[in-house]
Amino acid sequence: MSKNIADKIKKLRLKNNMSQKDFGALIGISDRAVSKWENGLSNPSAQNLIAISKIFNVPVDYFSESVSVKNDIVKAVGMESLTELYKTGRGPSSSHTIGPEKACIAFKNRNQNAEYFKVVLFGSLAKTGKGHGTDVVIEKTFAPINCNVEFNYTETDIKHPNTMDLYAYEKERLVDRLRVYSVGGGSIAFDDVEIEKPERIYSFDKFSDIAKYCKENDLRLYEYVEQTENNCFYEYMLNVWQAMKRSIFNGLNDEGILPGGLEVQKKAKSLFDSQHIDESAETRENRMVCSYAFAVSEQNASGETIVTAPTCGAAGVLPAVLYYQQQKHKFSDDKIIKALETAGLIGNLIKTNASISGAECGCQAEIGSACAMASAALAELFGLSIDKIEYAAEIAIEHHLGLTCDPICGLVQIPCIERNAVAAMRAINAVNLASFLWNTRKISFDRVVQTMKETGHDLSSSYKETSEAGLARIKL
Ligand code: SF4
Repeated sequence: MSKNIADKIKKLRLKNNMSQKDFGALIGISDRAVSKWENGLSNPSAQNLIAISKIFNVPVDYFSESVSVKNDIVKAVGMESLTELYKTGRGPSSSHTIGPEKACIAFKNRNQNAEYFKVVLFGSLAKTGKGHGTDVVIEKTFAPINCNVEFNYTETDIKHPNTMDLYAYEKERLVDRLRVYSVGGGSIAFDDVEIEKPERIYSFDKFSDIAKYCKENDLRLYEYVEQTENNCFYEYMLNVWQAMKRSIFNGLNDEGILPGGLEVQKKAKSLFDSQHIDESAETRENRMVCSYAFAVSEQNASGETIVTAPTCGAAGVLPAVLYYQQQKHKFSDDKIIKALETAGLIGNLIKTNASISGAECGCQAEIGSACAMASAALAELFGLSIDKIEYAAEIAIEHHLGLTCDPICGLVQIPCIERNAVAAMRAINAVNLASFLWNTRKISFDRVVQTMKETGHDLSSSYKETSEAGLARIKL
């Protein structure tokens, strides 16, 4: 953050005899977050700057010497926590399964004596909930207690397109009711609480700025992440990695047909168990990495637990690459977490400056982003320089540009599952290329992210998760 803003905030707080804790309480943030602002380690959002100006009765442009604020005071700068990117929950959709699952867990916990539950889905949750398995995830979450899921297709007077009502009953009597909104990315909000965007805790939102800062301060990218996130972050990431490994393990031990009616067979286990008649080390590597990617993606398609990386549909790419490397080189979990943090930074930059949503920018935004994250993670595991990490992530996005989102029947199965496996192999390829050719590159990571965004907006909506064109038109 601008040293100037940091100094001004501190000066105003001290002039008003406020502790960091009291000042933070007025804004709704911790004293640690205030300390980070005052030390220039993170940025107040534009909304927070407006709140600060009100508290101290100064005009908003009092802070306007910062370039980012001067141009557009309401334009948010920086990035959200990586905890908003990596979310653990049931697939296949963060808004249609992870969010509702979270709501049901909270509701079940506060109604421990309930004899049965009822959930009514509205808006998009009602219209596309069947295809995404929202009802199945809700029933699984309440199990062994019975839950009746209803789809209300007619109610339009709702505050958010993904709305759900939850009811709890004891002895035929309604004992609790809650309206919940699944507001995207696995986050939920409640009826009388205003839906707020998470705070932007990262001071930079361009790779070039982060790279410059890291080089000046002799930091690896993951160290910038650790410097910015809070004290519980390491434990959070450890849980993320454990959940990723569990999804691989469960997927490799699962067989049968995926739900949804396409009769798609689960293939992770057979891929893992097969052996080429004359298997080379390269063939084996390909088979192992792909079987891990299939394992996670099939768990996702089955409504089982995965970690968004950056989304449910692309959840298999990053764990497949990292798990293979951990098996091969015996990397410690600690080293893998540093790689995950590096990958998270890449995913966060794409999420902030373009999109990670297939519905917004096509599959390039989901699988392309996952491939870039996996490339960066692998490059970090190998201890490559920041420039090489950047080049690897740039290559990964560049060769997914224009990729359409056209899943058959709207199910996250064909082409999604294979696409995870292919992207995992591409990530390995991108790192190899980057490690040899990095000093010949012409295109920056920031530029390719911008191009991905423009390409995504130019794509016809038929190719953006609407099932209207491409592979989605094939009748099976
Ligand atoms: S095709 Fe669409 S649903 Fe499937 S992984 Fe790509 S973006 Fe996700």
